[in-house]
Amino acid sequence: MTAIRQQDLIDSIADAFQYISFYHPQDYIQALGRAWEREQGAAAKDAIAQILSNSRLSAEGHRPICQDTGIAVVFLKVGMNVRWPDATLSLQQMVDEGVRRAYLNPDNPLRASVLADPAGARKNTRDNTPAVLHYEIVAGDQVEVICAAKGGGSENKSKFAALNPSDSIVDWVLKTVPTMGAGWCPPGILGLGIGGTPEKAMLLAKESLMAPVDMHELIERQRSGAALTRLEALRLELYEKVNALGIGAQGLGGLTTVLDVKILDYPTHAASLPVALIPNCAATRHVHFYLDGSGPARLEPPKLEDWPAVSWSPDLQSAKRVQLDTLSKEEVATWKAGDKLLLNGKMLTGRDAAHKRIADLLAKGEPLPVDFRNRVIYYVGPVDPVRDEVVGPAGPTTATRMDPFTRMMLEQTGLIAMIGKSERGPVAVQAIQDNRSAYLMAVGGAAYLVAKAIKSAQVVGFADLGMEAIYEFDVQDMPVTVAVDANGHNVHESGPAEWRQRIASGEFKGIALATA
Ligand code: SF4
Repeated sequence: MTAIRQQDLIDSIADAFQYISFYHPQDYIQALGRAWEREQGAAAKDAIAQILSNSRLSAEGHRPICQDTGIAVVFLKVGMNVRWPDATLSLQQMVDEGVRRAYLNPDNPLRASVLADPAGARKNTRDNTPAVLHYEIVAGDQVEVICAAKGGGSENKSKFAALNPSDSIVDWVLKTVPTMGAGWCPPGILGLGIGGTPEKAMLLAKESLMAPVDMHELIERQRSGAALTRLEALRLELYEKVNALGIGAQGLGGLTTVLDVKILDYPTHAASLPVALIPNCAATRHVHFYLDGSGPARLEPPKLEDWPAVSWSPDLQSAKRVQLDTLSKEEVATWKAGDKLLLNGKMLTGRDAAHKRIADLLAKGEPLPVDFRNRVIYYVGPVDPVRDEVVGPAGPTTATRMDPFTRMMLEQTGLIAMIGKSERGPVAVQAIQDNRSAYLMAVGGAAYLVAKAIKSAQVVGFADLGMEAIYEFDVQDMPVTVAVDANGHNVHESGPAEWRQRIASGEFKGIALATA
């Protein structure tokens, strides 16, 4: 029998969530480096460079890769010969204690994003607990642990279908991925769960994402003539066909949307073909370790020299510098979709809860805490700062969630432009066009890099909302791209459409999508 101390599991979980908050898995980073090398779309290549530079900065600074430090997901496989001689807590309580310590670590506090009473008061639990724990009792005398921090943007794009047994899984995936937009911050990984029952398929899809990115090895094996299993062949087919959709990094259009496609399957009912799809985003975060009774896990830090030699800096040649403090509606209307801007000066922030409260105040005819006239709003919920930081990692959140509020903000508050990530829906694009406004896109998954552009930050409204409060940021050369302009031109439509067509034309045959 192996004896595992309660404290060893707690300490290991706490270390693991700190570790993955600032270290990308090396397999993901290496694959992203290869994608950067072959990318031909300028906007997509710039976005990948920001994600790579951000990754290295996070690893150096031990600060989160993304401002959404995720919901904690833990997979435990507990050997039947394991004992817990000093345990006073249940497995769920041990894991939660580790998560609590990780997220409240004063050296690198992580953002607490978990809300209790999800269908009601939605109150933040303040320490990111409880974790979502999956455990199995297996043969053996050790405990296998996988810790993953899953961001809301990618989790929200999870899909499930109860297909007919005769339906094509490939067709379903190719029809479904474009409906996911860019809110899952591609380039990432698609996890598929096939078979079992609906809940089993979802769990398989999530679990499949915990395996290393190894598509390049699969491609090499295929090239060498090795026989592939049915699931390997399906992974390869989906990898090539999803990338041929042209969605590209951040949905801007380009050669790489996915770095890998993972699949796990399970026997199913003769009448059924359940299929689940869960994406992993630019902040792919997971770590795998074992406890064998000899103490807590020791997670080796990766070597910084293993990061691809890609260093992003503001593009002063092709980007336009914008002064926010003197910005006018007329100037905003001159921006064209695809323009690269470097923002300077003061902007306001606000996301879901702030928008809801603004709507409530306006409906009651009550004053707002800040004057939005001629201002730009950034959809963000930053991580708390430490040491000499003015703000912690502060990347954009998914703008689509603010679509229902966009017309109200533009027509009732005097706001002139917005910054977020991913695409806008038709309602928001129409409101932007009607008001000659613009929507600017920052790179999701480059939160620490963006935070370096923020020179001061203060809460100016709704302080009780915590990370969802309204801040005023003073920024210097913060990089954004005009994603929707005053004429309603939308790069998230035009970019993927152009790249899909160009890929289909064979223009990039020399740069195989499947290059290892
Ligand atoms: S990279 Fe995008 S989807 Fe992933 S956690 Fe960050 S904001 Fe969310």
